[in-house]
Amino acid sequence: MAPGRSVKIAVVGCGLMGSALARAFAVAGHDVAVWNRTPGKARAVGGGTVDFENLVEAVSGRELVVLSLSTYTACFEVLAAKGVASALAGTTLVQLTSGSPADARSGLEWARAHGVDYLDAAILAFPGFVATDYATVFYAGSRAVFDRHLETLQALAKNSVYVDEKIGSAATLDCAILEAYYGSSLAFLHAAAMCKAEGLDPKAFFAQKSSFLGLISVTADAAQGMIGTNDFSGDQCSLNTHVAAIEHIVRLSKDARISARFPTELLDNYKRAISVGLGDKELPAVFQTLTRE
Ligand code: NAP
Repeated sequence: MAPGRSVKIAVVGCGLMGSALARAFAVAGHDVAVWNRTPGKARAVGGGTVDFENLVEAVSGRELVVLSLSTYTACFEVLAAKGVASALAGTTLVQLTSGSPADARSGLEWARAHGVDYLDAAILAFPGFVATDYATVFYAGSRAVFDRHLETLQALAKNSVYVDEKIGSAATLDCAILEAYYGSSLAFLHAAAMCKAEGLDPKAFFAQKSSFLGLISVTADAAQGMIGTNDFSGDQCSLNTHVAAIEHIVRLSKDARISARFPTELLDNYKRAISVGLGDKELPAVFQTLTRE
């Protein structure tokens, strides 16, 4: 693609994310049509975008059509509307609605059946981060289709990462990162609750952010190596010792009469690893109890 070429793009879905995506494309100089089920939100996008009340008109003659809806179910409803599939034939559909790998596979199946090029994407950013250095977007699908649109897609995130030809790979990576995010977030919120319940200002805990993030980082590096070699032996800290530490967390939670569900779930997982004979291994050995037989 010639640098700086203005591309005809449609953004379907003008919620918080879709509106940010549409404005970012417009700022980059593209010709952006927007459509939303509730038309007022499409009108409110502004930033040089052009709103349409009719979806077929919005997507007709567009090189790139981006979907940003709540769910894939909503996407399939929209794609099934009269005249939409034929208006999309020959375009590239970029699915920026979050979903599972199975959702991505059904999206590709739909696209193939209707002569549409398809990229399944996952955005790792809040709307306010779109088009900044803090945004990352993962893409899966045909490398050739990705390369053809990369320059245009970089309007959303310079860090536009091609993951794999396997259509579910962007969703898989997104789910993996989000699990690490939500799991760690619940852990640190519970940690703050423990501090508060014991009369320690949670500020004291948050001041140690770099300590616990550092521990997670070191353990992730160790886990990567151990999972790669399938060797979980080491000389740093056995699972038996880790379990004793988690038992203190459960005890504190119960004594302080706050929810002990999260640390109890942790304890169950780590103890299961011990029960299958991994007690003298390092922490990442728990991985062996989480994979399919
Ligand atoms: P949102 O503000 O709630 O917007 C949801 C959009 O989906 C609205 O445009 C809504 O239309 C539309 N929609 C829902 N059901 C529909 C249906 N049956 N038919 C047609 N349109 C329908 O959500 P959002 O934050 O923009 O999120 C959009 C996608 O981006 C989600 O998949 C989300 O996981 C992903 N995402 C969001 C963030 C974030 O920080 N916000 C970050 C990463 C990824 P109406 O206005 O008519 O209701």
